[in-house]
Amino acid sequence: MTPRPDPLAYDLDALRARLVPETGGAVDRSIPELARADPSLVALSIVTLDGATNASDGSDVQVSIQSAVKPFLFALALQDTGGDALDRVGIEPTGEAFDAIKLESGTGRPPNPMVNAGALLTASLVDGADAEARSARILSGLSAFAGRDLEADADVAENEHLLGDRNHALAHLMRAEDTLAVSADDAVAVYARACATLVDARDLALMGATLAAGGRNPVTGVEVVSRDVARDVISVMATCGVYDGSGRWMRQVGVPAKSGVSGVIVLSAPGRLGAAVISPPLDDQGTSVRGHIASEILSADLDLHSFRTGSV
Ligand code: GLN
Repeated sequence: MTPRPDPLAYDLDALRARLVPETGGAVDRSIPELARADPSLVALSIVTLDGATNASDGSDVQVSIQSAVKPFLFALALQDTGGDALDRVGIEPTGEAFDAIKLESGTGRPPNPMVNAGALLTASLVDGADAEARSARILSGLSAFAGRDLEADADVAENEHLLGDRNHALAHLMRAEDTLAVSADDAVAVYARACATLVDARDLALMGATLAAGGRNPVTGVEVVSRDVARDVISVMATCGVYDGSGRWMRQVGVPAKSGVSGVIVLSAPGRLGAAVISPPLDDQGTSVRGHIASEILSADLDLHSFRTGSV
C-alpha cells in the first residue's frame, strides 16, 4: 500500500492561496460582532495525534467559536453526567436549520446536541450549582481541549444573550416540556457565553485532535474526556455536525466535523488528526463556503475520508 501523505509536510499556505479568490457566501449578521467579520480571512491548521502542528498564515487570528462549541459541550455534559446526558438528548439528524423551533416528538427532548436546542440542554448539564459555575466549568473544559486558557468575548456573549430570541424560545419550549431543569434565561446565558469563547485555527485543530485521540490532549497529555465520550461525540458530529448538510458533507469530505456561524469548522479524523478552517462567509446552512472547499481538498489530499477503502 502507498503510505499516506504526511499532514505536517502539507503546504497549508498554498491551499490558503487557492481559497482566497473564492468569494461566495456572506458573513453572519445575527450580532454586530459577527457582521463586522473580515470576509477575506482564511486560516487553516492541522494538529497530529502526537501533538505536532501545521498552520497557515492567519492561524493566530481569534474569532468566537459559535456552534463549533457544541461537540465540546456535549463531551463535557457526557463526562460530568457519567453518560446520563444521552438519556436527555436525541442523536438523530433533524433535516432542518440549526435554530429550528423543534423538539423530538413524543419525548420533548432536543433532537440532537449539534442543533441549538441540544446545545442549550447539554450546556445546562455540565457540573455547576448556578449559571456562573457552569460557565466557569465550560471555559475550563474548553481550555483543556485547546491546551491553553481560553477567554470569552464579553460583547459577543452579551449580544448572543440579548438577541438570541430563537434560543430563548427553544429554552422556554424545553421548560414547557419538562426537559430543561434550569431556568430558560440561565440556559441561554450559559450557552451564549460558550459560543463567545475566542479561538484561533490552531486552538480548534487541537480541540479536534483531542477528540480524534480518544479524549487525551496530544500536546498537554491531559485526559479531558474518556475514550467512550470521545467516540460518542465524534459519532454525532458525523451524523449531525453540519446540520441539514451532513449527508452531503459525509460523502464529499468524509470527516466528522462541526461548523459555526463565525466561519469556523473543526474536523476530527479519529486516529489520524484534528484540523480547523476559519473563513467567515457562509452558505445558506451556516457553514463556511471556503471552509467546506478546504475540507474537501484536505480530505482528498491527505486521504482522510472515513469510507474510502484502500486498494487490496
Ligand atoms: N450563536 C449562534 C446561535 O446560537 C450559534 C449558531 C451557529 O454557529 N450555527 O444562534
